[in-house]
Amino acid sequence: MKPIALLPYMGNRISRLWLVVLFATVTLSARAGDVVDREITPWQPGMLDIHQISSGRGNAGLYIFPDGTTMLVDAGELSKKVPRHTPDRPNDTRPAGEWIVRYIRHALRHDPQPSLDYALLTHFHEDHMGDPTDSQPMSRSGAFKLTGLTWVGEHLRIGKMLDRGWPDYSYPKPIESAAMKNYRAFLKWQTANHGMKVERFAPGRNDQVVLCRDPKKYPSFDFRNVGANGEIWTGVGTVTRCHFPDLKNVPLTDWPHENMLCTAFRLSYGKFDYFNGGDIPGIPAEGLPQWHDVETPVAKAVGPVEAAILNHHGYVDTQNEFFVATLRPRVWTLSVWVASHPSARVWQRLRSSRVYPGPRDVFATDLHPATQQVISGIEKLASDHGHIVLRVSPAGDEYRVVIVDDSSESHRVTKVFGPFSSR
Ligand SMILES: [Zn+2]
Repeated sequence: MKPIALLPYMGNRISRLWLVVLFATVTLSARAGDVVDREITPWQPGMLDIHQISSGRGNAGLYIFPDGTTMLVDAGELSKKVPRHTPDRPNDTRPAGEWIVRYIRHALRHDPQPSLDYALLTHFHEDHMGDPTDSQPMSRSGAFKLTGLTWVGEHLRIGKMLDRGWPDYSYPKPIESAAMKNYRAFLKWQTANHGMKVERFAPGRNDQVVLCRDPKKYPSFDFRNVGANGEIWTGVGTVTRCHFPDLKNVPLTDWPHENMLCTAFRLSYGKFDYFNGGDIPGIPAEGLPQWHDVETPVAKAVGPVEAAILNHHGYVDTQNEFFVATLRPRVWTLSVWVASHPSARVWQRLRSSRVYPGPRDVFATDLHPATQQVISGIEKLASDHGHIVLRVSPAGDEYRVVIVDDSSESHRVTKVFGPFSSR
């Protein structure tokens, strides 16, 4: 409205022409990107989108690769809420699995028949896979309960499922939690009835997750499996090495715990690199051997990246100095809903220009109010709540961070950061 109101005062042709140019520029730039207070724009071919979904019940990520290939990374759903948790997002009228399905359908609205080409389960904890309880509904088949990942798989076709344990789920010892039994029942039914493939995540390889819709068009895309079960890529070819000692010589109390066995991967698109290591630790608990640090060998293989998700939600046992200094991302994302995450020391390492120079921003899905009270400087978070969408432009030269409202299903953009240049 303003330019029109100004016209009578400007009065000559040059000013009018200038206004037309200005108006066209504003309109074009609005079309090209996401604008605060409007619905997030749909994914388009050539873009790489990484959505970190805020549910208040666990970790869930949706990836849309440049040719439209889709991948889910975890779909957690803790069964209980306690005071140290943030509330359900958007609210408690639906379970997390259902909210995640609805979020994915919206993010994939460019596709009339949305599906997931891949789903990766980083490890077997309920905040990443779901938690079957008596109150959870059964699937239509009656073969498994619907919670987190199995809820998503019931409603969206999954082409290939990847995890660290297929087919026997016995490393380092048989895993017999209720969540695992339910997950295996889900796999059994899906492979027999829906043609779902399941594979064990194979460290070192870069051909297990590939573009499946138009791969020739985006030759610079690469998905590298970095580690799982203590087998870690060396950074050379597809060669890996075993980071853990022979467990025959290790007392049972020192055996690797579930987080140490997480999958880790690096995603590259042109000059853009991104890292996800699930819940891997990098600071051994008191008295435990140094090989309980999984971050250090992983960081050596991965090198610097543009963006990374914090390991283990920023808990005390993660983001060691070597890891932070080696990856040195411009953008950190934090999948969080618990008051103890991140820890104060992790926050200090992320912020320290002694650990690595240059600017950086940290984005959290849902920081607990208690954490805001306890950690000094945490108000410097670029964003403390909302779905976090990392949008990498075609060819990977630059990227933005778009924060989307998680208090409703408006999909309204609340903040936009960038563009940042890939190095
Ligand atoms: Zn976790």
